[in-house]
Parts: sequence; C-alpha cells; structure tokens
Amino acid sequence: MNDVLRFGSVTVYLGEKSGKYPDGNQVLVRGSDIRAAFDTPLVANRIGPDFDEVDLVILGHVHEDHMAGLHRVPDAQVQVHEGDLAAAQSWEGLARHFGYADSVLAESRANLEANFFYCPRPDATGYRDGATWELGGGVRVRAHHMPGHTAGHCVLVVENEGVACLGDIDLTGFGPYYGDACSSLVQFRQSLAAVAELDVRTWVTFHHRGVLTDRQAFLHALARFTSKIDERTDALLAYLDDGPQTLAQLAHRRVLYPEHYDAPFVDSVERRSIAMHLDELVAAGRVQVLEDGRYLKC
Ligand SMILES: [Zn+2]
Repeated sequence: MNDVLRFGSVTVYLGEKSGKYPDGNQVLVRGSDIRAAFDTPLVANRIGPDFDEVDLVILGHVHEDHMAGLHRVPDAQVQVHEGDLAAAQSWEGLARHFGYADSVLAESRANLEANFFYCPRPDATGYRDGATWELGGGVRVRAHHMPGHTAGHCVLVVENEGVACLGDIDLTGFGPYYGDACSSLVQFRQSLAAVAELDVRTWVTFHHRGVLTDRQAFLHALARFTSKIDERTDALLAYLDDGPQTLAQLAHRRVLYPEHYDAPFVDSVERRSIAMHLDELVAAGRVQVLEDGRYLKC
C-alpha cells in the first residue's frame, strides 16, 4: 500500500507518485455516523474496506481521474456541485463538459473505460456553494465553490480538522487547467485568490504535491502555480511578435503542453485556453483582432 497520512478524522491515501495523474490522492473522512470519500482516484481500487465501505462520496468536481473508484461503491450516495452534476450522471453530460470534437470524444471514452473504470452515476445528486455535511461526532464538511477548472469545482473543507482538500487547484508544475468547455480562466483567477483566504492548517492536493501543513509553503506553492497563467500570456505575446496569427496557428505552437506530448485532446484544450488568454489581452488593449480574424499585438 502507498503512504497513508492521518489528520484526526481525515485519512489521506496517497496515490502513485503522490497522486500524479492519472492517479490522485484519496481522502476519507470518518464521522461517528457516516464515512465519506472525497473523490475516488485510481488508488481507491487498492485501499480495501476502508474505501469500499464508505456511505457517501462527495465529488469536488467531475473528471475521469476523480471517478475511478465509483464502480466499487454502487450503494454509496454520490454528491457533486450542481455545475458538474450532469457530467457525473451520464456520458452525454461528460461529453458536453469536455466539449471536444466527436472523434476526440470517441477516443476519450475508450480511454476512460480502459484505464479509469469509467462509471457514470445517474443517481448522483447536486449540492451548492456552502453546503455542509454533518458526519457525526462533530465531524463537519463544507463545500466552497471555486470554479474555473470546471464549472462546479469545489474545495472541500473538513472544518473540525482545519483540512482543505483543494481538488485540481493542485499546485503542480503544469499550472492551472482551464481547457474544457465548462472551464473559465476568469473564474479560475477568482478561485486562486479565494483559496488563499481559507482559514485552515492543512492543504491536501489531489495530484502530485501531496499534503502541505505550513501556510507559507502553501502560499508560495499557490503563487508559483498562479504564475503559470502569466507565463502562458507571455508565451502568446512572444508568438505574436512574429506577426498576426490565427487561433489555429497559435494553438499549433502551444502554450500548455510540450511539443512532444501527443494526445487526441491537445488541440482542443490549447485552442480553448489560448482563446481565453486572447480575450483578456484584447480587453486589456494589448492585442487586437483583425478583420480576417487574425490576432495582432498592439
Ligand atoms: Zn480535474
């Protein structure tokens, strides 16, 4: 078994490489009445009864790597923010959530079924910002809606332990991901500011960075993570130094994924992300759109 960390009623099972994608870190919260799981990464399949006997799964958001243990707990109640509810309930909902072209969606579905035990949950129900769960014995969870990564992305806080589970505000070197149809760079920026204000002592990332227990270290990691957004803007402006370009040309040059990284969704995610940066730059008067649709640096 991988590393297990305990913070009172909260247990964190670290996934492979501290939860590096495609794995993630499993959080389990035990109250005197209810046992809850936050998300269900691949590692959930290697935990045993501690996971398999949960009564409730609270999803912080919907993506394949957060749903990979749902097939093991068909009787558990599944809840997710209403902004991501349709994506949890059906493939059609998840397809709209991603917003990829049909050919890319077909490949994505095959990947989800082969590698993530993909299992939609038509029985899932929605919650809203500020929702709380009393798990018994003073164990209380509160959802803080912090969208941008997805429309319904939430940070889940175990209030009695001062533990915040950050989901995919994951503090990784990749930086913020806002490349789906339901994503928003504007909202992600607001969420990055809001997450710094949470009154907690422990920050659990879903991926790779594991657990932080020092506020200064957390704020430092958050600042570095946030700075990736400006690095992408700078990369785009440098591309535009070569003259006016179309969105397709800019997406081909990429601001997110390295040149050698190949996956069916890359073009879609680059396009969506770059379009959001260009919207910001146009609004700021730093880039203009020519009549033929190309972008020109001012
Ligand atoms: Zn995600």
